[in-house]
Amino acid sequence: MRCTKCRGQEACLEVRRHNAAFCEACFLEFFRDQVARAIERHKMFRRDEPVLVAVSGGKDSLALWDVLLDLGYDATGFYIGLGIPGYSEPSREKCEAFAAQRGARLIVTDLESEYGLGIAATAQRTMRTPCSACGLSKRYLFNKVAQEHGFRVVATGHNLDDEAATLFGNVLRWQTGYLGRQAPVLAEEDGFIRKVKPLYRLAEREMAAYCVLRGIDYIVDECPMSKGAKSLLFKDVLNQLEAVSPGTKQSFLFGFLEKAQPLFEEHEEVELRPCGQCGQPTTAELCAFCRLRAEVAQPKRRRGRGGKAARAPRDGTPEPATAASALPLVSPES
Ligand code: SF4
Ligand code: ZN
Repeated sequence: MRCTKCRGQEACLEVRRHNAAFCEACFLEFFRDQVARAIERHKMFRRDEPVLVAVSGGKDSLALWDVLLDLGYDATGFYIGLGIPGYSEPSREKCEAFAAQRGARLIVTDLESEYGLGIAATAQRTMRTPCSACGLSKRYLFNKVAQEHGFRVVATGHNLDDEAATLFGNVLRWQTGYLGRQAPVLAEEDGFIRKVKPLYRLAEREMAAYCVLRGIDYIVDECPMSKGAKSLLFKDVLNQLEAVSPGTKQSFLFGFLEKAQPLFEEHEEVELRPCGQCGQPTTAELCAFCRLRAEVAQPKRRRGRGGKAARAPRDGTPEPATAASALPLVSPES
């Protein structure tokens, strides 16, 4: 098959939802165009604005970091060590190797050594699922670390498949709070930095193709905590629909963003105050992260799931590490 764009070279990848097939050069151009389009259409960040890129060592986040650097953005990587035996160490090494190769800056934080909240141990000592503790901790650290280093925007590697699967799960349960917050951009507000998803127009297999073509060495294994996650089942169902009817995932997600998402946006004022311990914005006396730390510090009592929250978290989507955060979604962050 010939490339449908340049019509000269042999195609290396078919993108059926676009009714197209691309040679290597045209695929890379297509990939960059889709990212540039997402950034411009949703005014994710300005050309001169430094961006913090949440990286896990997986294909999505490293592809995102690479394409942003390639497009000329000032993109700094941010890696969070999750304390997952056999997984966290090699994933950090991939990020460090990428940063060294590209001459890019990488900020590293470790949940276990810095906060006593390694995900595997925290899950064992609390009533939370690993993905719940992980999602809560990541949201917290994205905000805190970005602010500490002077960033106003954090970019995550959520792709089209992640977003469609999350949407599917939220629709099945009519999680209206989450639906209202599922968007390519979550605006900066009340002490929360802006969060953006520049890859939402590109499918998972395109991430892998991009990494191979660009020589990006990523961690292939999924996070071991993702086993049995409902999001994987939802992805599987959507993949079956996509195989029969190419473009299903895209029209499901894009149609929602265009026609339905604004209907679910909540405009009620929520009173936020600084957390009594760390100063991050929260609706309660202590933020959910500090409550989790306190919970872990008192391992003997049987603990609940952190109490009810007044609103959905600012990001009701799977974390970029594996795109496999368990659904129902992570426990609400204040
Ligand atoms: Fe965190 Fe994702 Fe692993 Fe769950 S599957 S523990 S959300 S990295
Ligand atoms: Zn706090």
